[in-house]
Amino acid sequence: MLPISLTHQFADRLPELAHPWRAEPCPSAQLVVLNESLATDLGLDSDELAAESGVDLLSGAKLPASARPVAQAYSGHQFGGFSPLLGDGRALLLGELETVQGLVDVHLKGSGATPFARGGADGRATLGPMLRELIVSEAMHALGVPTTRSLAVLTTGRPVFRHGREPGAILVRTAASHLRVGSFQYAALRGDEALLQRLADYAIERHYPELADTDQPYLGLLRSVISAQAHTVAQWMLVGFIHGVMNTDNMTISGETIDYGPCAFLDVYDPATVFSSIDSESRYAFGQQPVMAEWNLTRFAETLLPLLDDDPNRAVDLAKSALEGFAGQYEQRFMRGMYAKLGLARTPAEDCDEVRGTFSNQDAVSASWSQNLPLNSLVHDLLDLMQRRKLDFTGTFRALTAAADDELEPLRAQLATSNNANGECRTGEFDAWLERWRAQRPDASVMRRANPVVIPRNHAVEQALREANAGDTAELFALLEAVTDPFTERTDRARFAQPAPADFTRYFQTFCGT
Ligand code: AMP
Ligand code: MG
Repeated sequence: MLPISLTHQFADRLPELAHPWRAEPCPSAQLVVLNESLATDLGLDSDELAAESGVDLLSGAKLPASARPVAQAYSGHQFGGFSPLLGDGRALLLGELETVQGLVDVHLKGSGATPFARGGADGRATLGPMLRELIVSEAMHALGVPTTRSLAVLTTGRPVFRHGREPGAILVRTAASHLRVGSFQYAALRGDEALLQRLADYAIERHYPELADTDQPYLGLLRSVISAQAHTVAQWMLVGFIHGVMNTDNMTISGETIDYGPCAFLDVYDPATVFSSIDSESRYAFGQQPVMAEWNLTRFAETLLPLLDDDPNRAVDLAKSALEGFAGQYEQRFMRGMYAKLGLARTPAEDCDEVRGTFSNQDAVSASWSQNLPLNSLVHDLLDLMQRRKLDFTGTFRALTAAADDELEPLRAQLATSNNANGECRTGEFDAWLERWRAQRPDASVMRRANPVVIPRNHAVEQALREANAGDTAELFALLEAVTDPFTERTDRARFAQPAPADFTRYFQTFCGT
């Protein structure tokens, strides 16, 4: 019996964006990881999924006659250049699962070349990068960051040639939807307003149903996506996550983080950090992410103009005023998170009240003056010190958590390992900051919930993947267990909390489309 029953609403309602296609035959698929807790949350039976018929379904190899998988069409700005036709070159949307949380897309990545595969691309994926997406997406979920999820990784039995012969694999991804800014760019490019409106209505129905009966549903959609992305990118910045390839085809309408390709977590705090081998101009550097999100949202707004108002000038004014809300919303969310990371009792809004009197429109907080709030300057001064002393981002916040409990040794240890060779940071500067911060009576219990012990550190991920590629998955499962329980301190997981050796980070690179 088939363990999943799917609807095909996307394919039915947006056939112009859905190319019917089948997965490559996959006679010897094997499960490497099945995410049982996610399966349970989705109302699926793990035993059934792990059985032969489940594996047939998850690999796309044998689908029931009623199944109608599609490759989705979309456009996208890739590193600033517009590609009118991208689409799922190696992925398929199997359909939507009806769950208690609403519709959830079930999607295969690495299921074989589709008509969107360009330049002879093979449509396949290798085991390492699919496991990498699974580890990082599940870690992000556990950290509270909106994200697509990973239900399973399977090997296909097909060899794939990248850096030599590697095991072929499929990732089974679930998502609130796979609608992206690039989907709207594709529809807008067709010049078919009815199609654009159908897409916008579908996006509203799936993600922002409360907008359906409002006077301005499409302006509401724009505002909601801006708000969702401001939240998500602020969460990235609070956990030190670098997406690496924030092209408009990789930015969702739901606000979920999607497409874990060349992503990585920061070790040392430095906004200029880039790991992606192809991001030669640092477009998607850590500190650039809010700026690039706003750039992508501007591209999204452009697609919606025909739906915003019949008068093109008025449509532009509406879009501009919505986009102006991004910076303030981002700053608010980032600062709220930073206050929690520092265990500060007051919220940024309370801090604002004190300085500016009653603060009514939170969306309109300008990033420039909010930096001058007293507690905000505490945050910015810390980040500045961390950057100059080359401190480990996650480790420093966790050491500060201990310091809030009057346990100063971990912080001393962090500072001792920091690189201050250039004498850029005067001795005592950190102590002065510490005194200011402790005067605010930081709450360690708040900090313990806001500062993870374990993130998927690059060297730990690479080691787990190397061993899994060689057939030994013990380290992979140990790492998965640790990153999906990130706020718990456990001595048997101490190795996952350690920063990478400096040499590792210096030469570490991530790759796209592997
Ligand atoms: P990504 O960087 O994963 O967002 O992919 C960008 C585009 O390249 C998408 O249209 C993918 O479908 C396509 N792509 C990446 N790798 C492959 C591959 N091995 N075969 C076919 N298409 C691919
Ligand atoms: Mg993509």
